[in-house]
Amino acid sequence: MGIQEQLRKLPSVDRLLQDETVAELAAQWGHELTVSAARETLDVTRQAIRDGAACPPVEVLAREVDERLAARLRPTLRPAINATGVIVHTNLGRAPLSAEARSAMDAVALGYSNLEYDLDAGKRGSRYIHAEEILCQLTGAEAALVVNNNAAAVLLILMCFARGREVIISRGQLVEIGGGFRIPDVMRQSGAVLVEVGTTNRTYTRDYEAAIREDTVALMRVHRSNFLLMGFTHEPTLAEMVDLATARNLLLFDDLGSGTLLNTEPYGLAHEPTIQESVAAGASLVSCSGDKLLGGPQAGIILGRADLIARLKKFPLTRALRVDKTTLAGLQATLRHYLLGEAAEKVPVWRMISLDEQALRKRARAWVRKLNEQGVNAQIVAGRSTVGGGSLPTATLPTHLVALVTGSPDTAAARLRTGEPPVITRIEDDQLVLDPRTVLPEQEGTLLQVVAEAVRD
Ligand SMILES: *Cc1c(COP(=O)(O)O)cnc(C)c1O
Repeated sequence: MGIQEQLRKLPSVDRLLQDETVAELAAQWGHELTVSAARETLDVTRQAIRDGAACPPVEVLAREVDERLAARLRPTLRPAINATGVIVHTNLGRAPLSAEARSAMDAVALGYSNLEYDLDAGKRGSRYIHAEEILCQLTGAEAALVVNNNAAAVLLILMCFARGREVIISRGQLVEIGGGFRIPDVMRQSGAVLVEVGTTNRTYTRDYEAAIREDTVALMRVHRSNFLLMGFTHEPTLAEMVDLATARNLLLFDDLGSGTLLNTEPYGLAHEPTIQESVAAGASLVSCSGDKLLGGPQAGIILGRADLIARLKKFPLTRALRVDKTTLAGLQATLRHYLLGEAAEKVPVWRMISLDEQALRKRARAWVRKLNEQGVNAQIVAGRSTVGGGSLPTATLPTHLVALVTGSPDTAAARLRTGEPPVITRIEDDQLVLDPRTVLPEQEGTLLQVVAEAVRD
């Protein structure tokens, strides 16, 4: 049969809309969306026929209309299962939130709140009071301010206090965090004049001292976040930098990156500088993220001297970087876990960090058993999870991985990634592996089901 004949068999939009399945779709999703999906289907099919394909039966066209509608209505931002073993995974949305944080966010999202309303006085209040008291209580800081994220916090601090002035930083701390966020670029963007001192591996207090001039306003320390400096290295302690800054009447900004309120050492990790340590050492302003090791929603936390925080609150750019009510609610609920001494059990990031090998082995065994029952060949292999999120760059935690024995690990990984829900895995030694550490217990059933389906055939 010729192309023209095949084209003639292709139904019109109206005819396609009369098909039972398509008519049901129109009733469910509305006429306009369905017509547009039907048009697209017919356009694509017409082209395929011109390229030599046969005209498919109406049922096939109807199914395609259905698929196109589903694809169009599916949100682009969807929950995924993180089986990579990277706990604070920036690409996968960083910190999962505790039940209490989620319900606090839901409660303020549902209706109105006293976000900027002083209930005692019955008049306008400030949104910035909401997390401030608990942050000060936890860290010993005089005052605190929460903004959109830590990048915003760093930019804000530099713009407010250092525009047109000099800020001294070690060459060993000129970091690129990821996603193109480079400390030297942010400093320049803020209008601050960046003065680099020391060498990549060694910077001394006297290097900072020699660079101080009339225009100098601050010394800055930046957490290296994603790389380690090892071997023949030196840098002053924060206390030494504070001493110098104080003696010369300068400010000291400390960008902690992740920021942690809990000591990492008891978990078998290297020491990650804590927020409390920076505050106690006397940094003028300390900044960190809300959604890295802190385990809360995306936010930038600024802590420090009351007079400086007061100036930041009044600085016009602060309004542009302000944080919304759901974030404040989620952050406050997350911080309450620390206040109550229950962070290791309640904050998901810390719950994952604290999972011991025995618990992980038990979960991995249960997964293997269930997968085997479904005809999937899987086995346990020893491996390492990582903390991620710009903290403890080389730190790993021992884990028990579930390795799937499958023909092509790449194909299986792609199938899992594009499934519903998407499952993000890791390929190690040519094997597709799943790390139980980062899979939330409530996701286990779904995970095993989609893995079995993706790997079996
Ligand atoms: C992650 C990080 C930032 C950026 O923080 P966001 O909350 O992602 O904006 C800034 N500085 C350092 C040192 C970091 O590690």
